[in-house]
Amino acid sequence: MDLQKVLNDIKDEVLAANLGGHLPTYIPELEHIDPDKFGMHLQTLDGRSFAFGDSSEKFSIQSISKVFTLVQAFRFKGSELWKRVGVEPSGDPFNSLQQLEFENGIPRNPLINAGALVTADILVSELKNPKLDFLEFVRELTGSREVFYNEKVAYSELECSHRNAAMVNLMKSFGNIQNDVNLVLDFYCHACSIEMSCAELANAFLVFSNHGIIPHNNKEVLSVSYTKRINSIMHVCGFYDEVGMFSYRVGLPGKSGVGGGIVAIHPTDYSVAVWSPELNTKGNSEKGMMALELLTTKTGYSIF
Ligand code: GLN
Repeated sequence: MDLQKVLNDIKDEVLAANLGGHLPTYIPELEHIDPDKFGMHLQTLDGRSFAFGDSSEKFSIQSISKVFTLVQAFRFKGSELWKRVGVEPSGDPFNSLQQLEFENGIPRNPLINAGALVTADILVSELKNPKLDFLEFVRELTGSREVFYNEKVAYSELECSHRNAAMVNLMKSFGNIQNDVNLVLDFYCHACSIEMSCAELANAFLVFSNHGIIPHNNKEVLSVSYTKRINSIMHVCGFYDEVGMFSYRVGLPGKSGVGGGIVAIHPTDYSVAVWSPELNTKGNSEKGMMALELLTTKTGYSIF
């Protein structure tokens, strides 16, 4: 199959659909992004890559970072992790507080904000230099040193982090946060502020298509069984209260962020990242969802 032609057709069809959407307003720095940016990068495990548009331009990965913090926390804690965070879809918006009170400060899963605040707390405890060490981990997965925090975005979010602060305080009151709440929030907002391109994200996620081994240096990050578990969690929790629709339309495990990025993986063959800043009401990229739906529809390369 001519995958470059498939990607070119996807670009044309998505642009012709005139989808619209909105930029996130609650992180002031993200409001200034050009809404017309659009790029996609597909990376196969056997080393081929296909791309279009703004696929090499960096953007704010936001909640996509929750997969990286989850992987590191899971490596430190193993199945003990599940005493502090669940693996069920939440059915609620990513920044919702309501379940936390009923469920005694144990977030439904690690890919909503509350859950990622718990994995952030674990990394603040376990890493010697949390922000530096975490960034090094993401760089190793990506195979590039050109991955950085955007301090402006991190502080822009920190200043407006009232809901996340409420969550972390509520969880602390239940004994599910061990560190100072400000340290946890600072780490969390920095992780969200990491900037990567579609090409870099697709490379970083290729480890999940390769049974936990980083393809470019053959290092084992996760066992086969742990990789299965991370991919399962992405599949049932990666898109908040739109996870069913994403699975129905695309049929791949993945993760989105309010920066407009979505990355998805096929568990044995490829990873793919798409970026378009305009979001739907659930906080997922409008064009990104359609582009990925077209990819698996045209190629048949979903997990089903
Ligand atoms: N930093 C964002 C927040 O905490 C991430 C949310 C997202 O990308 N869905 O609200």
